[in-house]
Amino acid sequence: MEHVKVAFGTGVVLGLWHGQLAVAPTTAHLLTHHEGRCSANCKFCPQAREAAADLRMLSRVVWPRFELKKILAAIGENSNEFERVCIQAVNYPNVVDDLCELVARVRGACGLPISVSCQPLKAGDIRKLADAGAERVSVALDAATPEIFERVKGSSYTWGGHLEALEHARAIFGDRVSTHLIVGLGESEREMVEALQFLHDRGITTALFAFTPISGTPLSSRPPPDIASYRRIQLARFLIVNNLSKAKRMRFDGGRIVNFGVGRDVVNKTVKSGEPFRTSGCPGCNRPFYNESPRGPIYNYPRKLTRDEIAMVTSQLNLNEDQDDILK
Ligand code: SF4
Repeated sequence: MEHVKVAFGTGVVLGLWHGQLAVAPTTAHLLTHHEGRCSANCKFCPQAREAAADLRMLSRVVWPRFELKKILAAIGENSNEFERVCIQAVNYPNVVDDLCELVARVRGACGLPISVSCQPLKAGDIRKLADAGAERVSVALDAATPEIFERVKGSSYTWGGHLEALEHARAIFGDRVSTHLIVGLGESEREMVEALQFLHDRGITTALFAFTPISGTPLSSRPPPDIASYRRIQLARFLIVNNLSKAKRMRFDGGRIVNFGVGRDVVNKTVKSGEPFRTSGCPGCNRPFYNESPRGPIYNYPRKLTRDEIAMVTSQLNLNEDQDDILK
């Protein structure tokens, strides 16, 4: 393998090219290089088989192609700038061989933990990734319900197949398995919260993404999610993954969260920490501005929130100061 793609911000930190970064990535992001499009056809993705989008893009980030040897040397020299390496892959024949080679070579270049984010692989292939030195694996469910999955990813994948791959990954990687969920594909807040609980109960780490319309994809005219709704889901996720609340303790009105199932003191303390609103996923992954322009609105904060930002998030949540509920 001679070349891979490097997320723009990662390349800046590695010194591969120059650029201004509002916030530096704490995870180095690489993407397998493949001539042509992904063989799958997810409707939000610029790499998809039938998309007419720029192939240098993944979400709203540009990933220029670069020589692997030089990337590995730069990762070796700059490994203290990062907490993790994430290797992502589009779907094509022999992708597993490429992933294993890339994991082994990154492993040889630095001591950083490596996440691999890939299509639902067979158990034997997931085992190969572990043997090559991957620390975690992520299979992106993206959709919160089987119906939305079918609509958005159904031409190439099945909900059951993804869950099965996540189960196989759990058997091999233990609690070092992640998945991505995209808010804004048509699910209700309740459906997203129930998906977060379902995955948490199965020991799977969840990373929240805000749907980002990309031109040249079938969903290019769909709007990004409402920011207040995204904040409620971020807060619910944080309470669930830290075992402070459960989906079944929360209350919903027309699919919308109106109560988080914990006392007002816990909600206030959690919101004031700012932690629920930071990028979620594998440890050490901040994915700066993957979903949004640095000009905002910022869905996933790639660093600690300032006091002003916490005040803004609090007003977006519209919490009721007298009761445990959210104001309508
Ligand atoms: S959460 Fe971050 S490090 Fe983990 S698979 Fe997703 S993008 Fe990669």
